[in-house]
Amino acid sequence: MTRYDYDLIVIGAGSGGVRASRFASLKYGKRVAVVEKNRVGGTCVMRGCVPKKLLVYGAHFAETFQDAQGYGWSYHNVDFSWSKLIEAKETELNRLEMVYHRLLKDAGVDELMGTGTLIDAHTVDVDGTKFTAEHILLAMGGWPRMPDIPGISNVITSNEALELEELPKQIAIVGGGYIAVEFAGIFNALGVDVRLIIRRENVLRGFDSEVCATLRDEMTKKGIDIISERKVISIAQNNKKVALQLDQGDQVDSDLVMYATGRRPNTANLGLEEVGVKLSDKGAIIVDAYSNTAIDSIYAIGDATDRINLTPVALHEGMAVTQTLYEGTPTAVDYTNVPSAVFSQPPVCSVGMTESEARQQNDIDVYKSNFKPMLHTLSGRDERTMMKLIVARQSDKVLGVHMVGPDAPEVIQGFAVALKSGATKAQFDATIGIHPTAAEEFVTMREPASETL
Ligand code: NDP
Repeated sequence: MTRYDYDLIVIGAGSGGVRASRFASLKYGKRVAVVEKNRVGGTCVMRGCVPKKLLVYGAHFAETFQDAQGYGWSYHNVDFSWSKLIEAKETELNRLEMVYHRLLKDAGVDELMGTGTLIDAHTVDVDGTKFTAEHILLAMGGWPRMPDIPGISNVITSNEALELEELPKQIAIVGGGYIAVEFAGIFNALGVDVRLIIRRENVLRGFDSEVCATLRDEMTKKGIDIISERKVISIAQNNKKVALQLDQGDQVDSDLVMYATGRRPNTANLGLEEVGVKLSDKGAIIVDAYSNTAIDSIYAIGDATDRINLTPVALHEGMAVTQTLYEGTPTAVDYTNVPSAVFSQPPVCSVGMTESEARQQNDIDVYKSNFKPMLHTLSGRDERTMMKLIVARQSDKVLGVHMVGPDAPEVIQGFAVALKSGATKAQFDATIGIHPTAAEEFVTMREPASETL
């Protein structure tokens, strides 16, 4: 007879938690329960990647209608209904939620609905009932983080933006990261007057500087007003407008204000530190290379650990933990060459080093292409695609692949495999292109550009 109710209790039924639960149960025959206080599916499925991408698709039709005219189409009375889009998105999320419930049921994983709080190294309290497990996996994800400034209660976050009853005429978005630029693109395409307020010179910290500059140009051409190097110092609701007081004395008035200033791990008030799990000063769970916390029987994955906060990374972390626990082979996730996409308009995708990162460690050559995509020769749209390869001169290894332009995330996925396999520039050159595509540019760049940084 076993001492515990379960072999594994997972707290959080988001992407990482569900993947780990199903693997532990289906692949290793373990007795597993997953605790969830909200909707099964977590941030990615319910409040992030999935609903956001549906809105990106919905918004992009606005440009498609315009571009079609260059191809001989004419039309009358084109109409858009935000409420229909939101309703359709919600129907899809409900369907996905049911799929997740079914996947867990079919895998034999028990769902424990409620808030999971740690009691000790093997016990979780779920709304007053205690359950024990040999191992506990913390996968509680994150939540929008906003600065503590006067009037902050007058703003919304991406959570509310995904469920707005009607489109505002104007929106001011504070932040220049993934969420800010993605929502700026959605709202702008749908005809909302968008201002993006960033505290740095440019958007998307951490990406290649030319990627950031290209995206900024394209967003600006599409009509987004980017107000850079400004901080919001206070917020007030004045009649029907929200007024943002900026640090250099200027003020921005807007119908609606959305903050996208990062996310914090969901780790407060769950008994973690009381049990001995260590947290960073940002509230992230501190883990070793195998996602083990300071307590032997407790592991943690995904946004709660604030490593690389992307769904596919959390999936890998979840699978690695089950391998570590149930195959007897300590398995660490390899965080090199993790591709990253931003579903801005146009989208961005990168894998590997930026030019400035690569220059710090290597002698490099940079190959670049900047062109008008074929679609826009007839559409007449003033939009350019930028592609860039970073290559180590001595080893000829491709260190970075970057693209801003239509379908960039679809294009880069395959190049991520090439980088993971250690591909050289000579191997890129020996690859025959697919014509006519934008992607073929990556295998036809022959001459390095002169130094840009
Ligand atoms: P990010 O960390 O990407 O960006 C936060 C932005 O807010 C930065 O521009 C930052 O500026 C700015 N900021 C932070 N604090 C303040 C402040 N007090 N005042 C003004 N600006 C501030 O966070 P997001 O919220 O956009 O996204 C959270 C995470 O979710 C991402 O890091 C990513 O891991 C994940 N995500 C991934 C997506 C994808 O894969 N497509 C989509 C959406 C989210 P500064 O640069 O100066 O620090």
